[in-house]
Amino acid sequence: MEILRVENLRKEYGDDNNKVIALDGITLEIERGEFVAVVGPSGSGKSTLLHIIGGVDSPTEGDVYIDGNNISKYSSKELSYFRRRKVGIVYQFYNLIPNLTARHNIELPLKLDKRKTNEKNFLEIVKKLGIEDKLNSFPSELSGGQQQRIAIARSLIYSPSIILADEPTGNLDRKNSKEIVDIFRYFNKALKQTIILVTHDENVALQADRIITIVDGRIVGDEKNE
Ligand code: ADP
Repeated sequence: MEILRVENLRKEYGDDNNKVIALDGITLEIERGEFVAVVGPSGSGKSTLLHIIGGVDSPTEGDVYIDGNNISKYSSKELSYFRRRKVGIVYQFYNLIPNLTARHNIELPLKLDKRKTNEKNFLEIVKKLGIEDKLNSFPSELSGGQQQRIAIARSLIYSPSIILADEPTGNLDRKNSKEIVDIFRYFNKALKQTIILVTHDENVALQADRIITIVDGRIVGDEKNE
């Protein structure tokens, strides 16, 4: 079943004198449970695509359907609900809140939504991520790999329809990169979690089920990875 459909997405930045076409007519469908890597040169539009799918940026033209709903038509209230419940974004530089402990960072999306933590679900996630003994630490006391694990836990805690990861291993060494990709792979398989991951690292992309290549804001390749 399709979880995401993007139709004719176009994104322009700047004005007529200084226009950048970041996305130049992107159309694609992603099935529930797919693990998709998006690759392409720097500046090709990968992050822009991810941000529009995640509802943190809006397209100049085109539509994004998630779970059958056209998010391009959402009001700002609907969009903030969508961001809190339907998508989890994992960034290259973790984006943790420095003065909150690891546990409070992970629980933050639930708190913002006035929901209680399901302790069983919480423990399953943090154990699988190997961070159960780091829950009282602050981000500055943790390594990059540990901070990224906290950020992944924060994205998994509310079981979003899609996880969007923007160069999640871009700041990590090879060993940590591999572990983080293995974690994504595990949650993809175990929970049928749909994942879209932007990367320039071929070893990371090769772990995905499907590799979409973007150049100059257009899809130039879309292959299943056997
Ligand atoms: P990638 O993630 O593939 O490196 P991006 O999506 O970040 O590419 O950028 C695509 C193009 O859009 C680039 O030319 C970039 O400079 C431009 N761009 C991205 N964000 C903005 C912005 N906020 N304002 C102006 N131009 C932008």
